[in-house]
Amino acid sequence: MADHHTDDNDGGDHEGSLPDERALRTAIGRLRVKPGSDLVLAKRATDGDFGMSKEQALARLTETRARIDVLQQRLYAESRRSVLLVVQAMDAAGKDGTIRNVLTGLNPAGIRVSSFKAPGGPEAQHDYLWRVHQQCPSRGDIAVFNRSHYEDVLVVRVKQFVPEAVWRRRYAHIRHFEQLLGDEGTTVVKVFLHVSKDEQARRFQERLDDPEKRWKFRAGDLDDRALWPEFQSAYQDAINETSTDDAPWYVVPADSNSRRNMAVGEILRATLERLDPQIPEPEAGLDGVKVV
Ligand code: AMP
Ligand code: MG
Repeated sequence: MADHHTDDNDGGDHEGSLPDERALRTAIGRLRVKPGSDLVLAKRATDGDFGMSKEQALARLTETRARIDVLQQRLYAESRRSVLLVVQAMDAAGKDGTIRNVLTGLNPAGIRVSSFKAPGGPEAQHDYLWRVHQQCPSRGDIAVFNRSHYEDVLVVRVKQFVPEAVWRRRYAHIRHFEQLLGDEGTTVVKVFLHVSKDEQARRFQERLDDPEKRWKFRAGDLDDRALWPEFQSAYQDAINETSTDDAPWYVVPADSNSRRNMAVGEILRATLERLDPQIPEPEAGLDGVKVV
């Protein structure tokens, strides 16, 4: 289920076995943005490889998916809590590829992926959280957002769709909204797929040159690319303003597809492990029952 990009840099030699579980967990933990830590995006790696070759990352993700599958079934059986994974990124950082590769093979009944485009129709007639709240997960489910309410402090800010006073107060709305979700049983976790500007150029070119991929490219993508510094600032502020203990942001290096997918898999897995969903107690009196 690899993402067939030619650009999956394999940064050097990675002989031998996978980094041990603890080292990997530490490396993934470092991607988290601690509340009040004043993230500087430019200082975060876009090309981290976690000491793994591409093959090792693929193998680890396969293992992780199997574990997520077990935990997802327990979450569903428990039917009390839910998980919301928010995926945000610049164009071509790999939102779709990440979602496809991390969730492949899971029970579709327990997963819902929602993509948020520019709001239209009734969406545009309501507050910006209206459409998002409706797509939040039911108890027992995992919901994944491909873009999200964060667009309303990102593209909306950069393109000046609303005045600063309007987008600025949204950070507090978002913190409170996510706190509400957490209080009511939905664990929120957010990933920013951090791609370099050079890697985006390579991927855009690949989209343009490959007839199978050209549909993904819009001329407007170049307008957004021209606003790269503005988008990075908007991301940096949004992440700093809304990374909380209960709804943390993770900045995931995204220049390598295989390591990016592996890392997002780890983050989802760790979130589920922490929840530790429990299979409900069976009905009393079933011991020794024979089905005839
Ligand atoms: P894509 O994800 O590449 O299919 O593109 C979706 C487009 O919708 C992106 O250009 C987003 O910036 C845009 N979009 C998503 N949410 C909003 C929003 N709330 N306001 C304005 N544009 C949005
Ligand atoms: Mg796009």
